[in-house]
Amino acid sequence: MAKKKSTNGKRVARAAVKEIKKGNKAVIALVAFLLVAAIAVGAYWYFCVYRKRYVTEELSIHFMELGNKYAGDSTLIKIGDTEILVDAGSRKSSAETLVPYIRNYCTDGVLEYVVATHADQDHIAAFVGTASAPGIFDSFDCRTIIDFPLTNKDNGALVREYFEKRDEEVSAGAVHYTALQCWNGTDGASRTYALAENVTMNVLYNYYYENESSDENNYSVCFLLSQGNNHYLFTGDLEESGESKLVEYNSLPKCRLFKGGHHGSKTSSTDALLSVIQPEIVCVCCCAGSPEYTTNSDNTFPTQAFIDRVAKYTDRIYVTTMATDVVTGGNKSWNFAPMNGTIVVRSSGDAPTVTGSNNSTILKETDWFAANRIWPSDA
Ligand SMILES: [Zn+2]
Repeated sequence: MAKKKSTNGKRVARAAVKEIKKGNKAVIALVAFLLVAAIAVGAYWYFCVYRKRYVTEELSIHFMELGNKYAGDSTLIKIGDTEILVDAGSRKSSAETLVPYIRNYCTDGVLEYVVATHADQDHIAAFVGTASAPGIFDSFDCRTIIDFPLTNKDNGALVREYFEKRDEEVSAGAVHYTALQCWNGTDGASRTYALAENVTMNVLYNYYYENESSDENNYSVCFLLSQGNNHYLFTGDLEESGESKLVEYNSLPKCRLFKGGHHGSKTSSTDALLSVIQPEIVCVCCCAGSPEYTTNSDNTFPTQAFIDRVAKYTDRIYVTTMATDVVTGGNKSWNFAPMNGTIVVRSSGDAPTVTGSNNSTILKETDWFAANRIWPSDA
């Protein structure tokens, strides 16, 4: 009797194990199904949604050294075979430095877009160049030229030369629009230019495109470069009132990068703008500590006031050049050396990387900073 009980017990146990195995198989099948489904949904999302929206080919932004000790801007933007040159400072002879650098990246000799932000020498001189160092317009086939609608320097010799060279380029086949024509979408101009899939250049509205200012800097062409959800803001030398109008008239997003306003002056990169764009990276094109415009350390680029304001958002400040052997007292006997050197920002839609041709040290970690500026304690 006891034996039979045992046999029955075994049978029941075997049946139970069979049931469990059956159950296990069902669970395994369900897990496998869910896994395959998750992979399929993930792959669909990555290839059909994420990649289409956010991943692009590599975008690079080059804040170039200018070959001399003067503050000025020249920035090359490259995506695929499309290049945009923004400004060509700081002197006519900067063409000697800029043209070979640009040729390394613009291998077909075609600059699809050229932007001249405003009529100051440190932004347009190398478009003109010299007899021995042909400028940008003589060195490249420029296709679409976008520049400042207004200037107070109409009669200046350099601006006239710039207009002449620009118009020669137009006669050779380029198209020319002012930033206001772009904003208004008139005469064939566009507010938005598609540079590559998911990459656009968007001309912003600057109040001073059509209203006079006593400060030439306020006439600067402003635009937003967008690569998916990554935004990069360029405002030339726009000053405080221009920045405040820019915020008022445009819906600006958070920006991965801001080209430090007006070479890091104390009258640009204001709280009104920074609090909206909250930049992660700020690149400054200047000769740090040079007495070019003033011997007052508080006013030399990049200013303490600029650093104090930017520090609320990021310590990733990079500077192209620095002054050496500064002699104060009105004597402009100084030389220059690279700080970061040419600064290159790269991204394929992910977080951008920053590399300097000399080094990639952030400003607050440099010897120059230790000797000349203070990082705000509440930053
Ligand atoms: Zn400038």
